[in-house]
Amino acid sequence: MDINKIREDYPLLGRDINGKPLVYLDNAATSQTPQCVVDAIDEMYHCHKANVHRGVHTLSQEATDRVEATREKMRAFINAGSIEEVIFTRGTTEGINLVASSLGETMCNGDEIIVTQMEHHSNIVPWQLLGQRKRITLRVVPVLDDGTLDLDAYEELFSDNTRLVAISHMSNVLGTINPVKEMIATAHRHGVPVLVDGAQAAPHMAVDVQDLDCDFYALSAHKMYGPTGVGALYGKKELLERMMPYQGGGEMISTVTFEHTTFAALPFKFEAGTPDYVGIAALGTALDYLNELGMDAIAEREHELLAYATERMLEVPGMHIYGTAQNKGAVISFLVNDINSYDMGLLLDKLGFAVRTGHHCAQPLMARYGVTGMVRASFSFYNTHEEIDAFVAAVKRVSSMF
Ligand code: PMP
Repeated sequence: MDINKIREDYPLLGRDINGKPLVYLDNAATSQTPQCVVDAIDEMYHCHKANVHRGVHTLSQEATDRVEATREKMRAFINAGSIEEVIFTRGTTEGINLVASSLGETMCNGDEIIVTQMEHHSNIVPWQLLGQRKRITLRVVPVLDDGTLDLDAYEELFSDNTRLVAISHMSNVLGTINPVKEMIATAHRHGVPVLVDGAQAAPHMAVDVQDLDCDFYALSAHKMYGPTGVGALYGKKELLERMMPYQGGGEMISTVTFEHTTFAALPFKFEAGTPDYVGIAALGTALDYLNELGMDAIAEREHELLAYATERMLEVPGMHIYGTAQNKGAVISFLVNDINSYDMGLLLDKLGFAVRTGHHCAQPLMARYGVTGMVRASFSFYNTHEEIDAFVAAVKRVSSMF
């Protein structure tokens, strides 16, 4: 990878922050957007803006073609079996809420859902909301000290009442890449479907939903170098066909009378209302961009950056890194001595470094480690060794001020 050339795709990376060159290390929250994706948004507004799926006129056909082309690109990107299994959403959160609401309708009082202690709130709260309606209990897979899951405990959480497993592919805090394929096989031996929260994994590694054999996979475009407000939910056709629509409205119907409505075929049954067709079209460009770089090359580059950053950060006196799994994505959450994460983050910002602080929407995981927050540096292929060196020097400098 020619990183200098790649960085030219991201004008924002050339910005100054507080008079210092920006070092953007908040990629797990959202990635930056390459110029080609911004151009695709621009082109949609300038040339092809019309509502999709309902117009006979040329503009509408053009917009529809772009949306449906992205659906095929997303299908290929995650290797889904068919485009009927690719539903456009607002993002991972909406994908999970869709399943909680729709599959949740088929659950009963006393049913159980298995989640893990490292889940993002968006893979906890939708199940709790469902639980309030249906008295469903969450069973939680514990996280071990190194940030991996206790897989023995996982096996023991299954009961006759288990209806779903909902697990993240990669932790947004610990970076742990969970052995989801094995965990899915275990769940299926118990006859239980699995939803995978792929928000963090999909931007960083090749995902093959058929190989994983997951039943649902949710992801967000804004973490994948795409636009904000768009995402996708993969679901196995046989499950989606049995599920009721998530929302009602235009686009998701076949016929409507005041007595009875029949629903559109998949995937439209789950896409009520006007979608973010501009964003979806631009997501297609983001997927082209990722394919051009190559997901394996991205994973390799980020793995190398993680190894270098980890080694260098351990030079900082009082450094504690949370999450030391062997199989780990390019995320380093840490604390230095007892320095508050917000204080560290604010001072780093003064020096031009964008990092995340606080609970990272994973309060149960913070409680597991007995802290209220952590500082998180999360890397993308476009980050450099020089940025890591500068970051380590800045963390040392800020730490010495306390
Ligand atoms: N799950 C994980 C693991 C995440 O990191 C995030 C985003 N921080 C989400 C879910 C939610 O994604 P979104 O806000 O894009 O819906």
